[in-house]
Amino acid sequence: MDNWFTIDKIDEKTYIISEYRHWEETHCYLLNGSERSLLIDTGLGISNIYDEVVKLTDKPITAVATHIHWDHIGGHKYFPEFYAHDEELDWLNGKFPLSVEKIREMVVDRCDLPNDFDINDYELFQGMPTKLLTDHETIDIGGRQIEALHTPGHAPWHLCFWERNKGYLFTGDLVYKDMLFAYYPSTDPEAYLDSLEKVTALPVEKVFPAHHSLDIRLEILIRMREALKQLKAAGKLHHGSGTFDYGDWGIWL
Ligand SMILES: [Zn+2]
Ligand SMILES: [Zn+2]
Repeated sequence: MDNWFTIDKIDEKTYIISEYRHWEETHCYLLNGSERSLLIDTGLGISNIYDEVVKLTDKPITAVATHIHWDHIGGHKYFPEFYAHDEELDWLNGKFPLSVEKIREMVVDRCDLPNDFDINDYELFQGMPTKLLTDHETIDIGGRQIEALHTPGHAPWHLCFWERNKGYLFTGDLVYKDMLFAYYPSTDPEAYLDSLEKVTALPVEKVFPAHHSLDIRLEILIRMREALKQLKAAGKLHHGSGTFDYGDWGIWL
């Protein structure tokens, strides 16, 4: 629909599905295995991501989300088979802390909407996962193993997805260029630092963020970790301490 999605290829079996017409520039990732495909995040839910994904795989598709925010689960309604962290059930069943009105405001904010899209029809996805994930659980899609890593900070049950064989780290909203958000009540600045420590201990080769520039290199993980360490040492790693600008990224605490 209206060229809503932009598709890029990482390798023969891995694709990026981006939504550049919304200011958040959301990226979802499709990993094709020999048995199944794994879709990491399903986007804003403004246009039908399923129609794009089936052009890129002929295998059954399982969806996962890095976390339960509207811009990562918007297309979950098209994927009856989806996994989620076992603590996320509340947010998938009526307990999400923001109203649908507030979410709708954010969906239409700075967005070149398709003509046939009606924001009044937009709902936060709610549903029951077909499988619950815990920290370090591995998803095998046939010839590819992807590990779910609990990485709280941006959201309490945020997951990064780690494909050790390729050195790919799908960072969700833990790491991207531009302003990182750690000021909502459900965020945790101290846990953010712990999660950066966790991912920088891995032999990562490529970083794939859920938002903004794809021109992002490994070294940013280290810079973010060191900056948060310094904020902690200065007694500023807590809610309400403000925004901090580091050039190609920043954090709002
Ligand atoms: Zn988020
Ligand atoms: Zn996001």
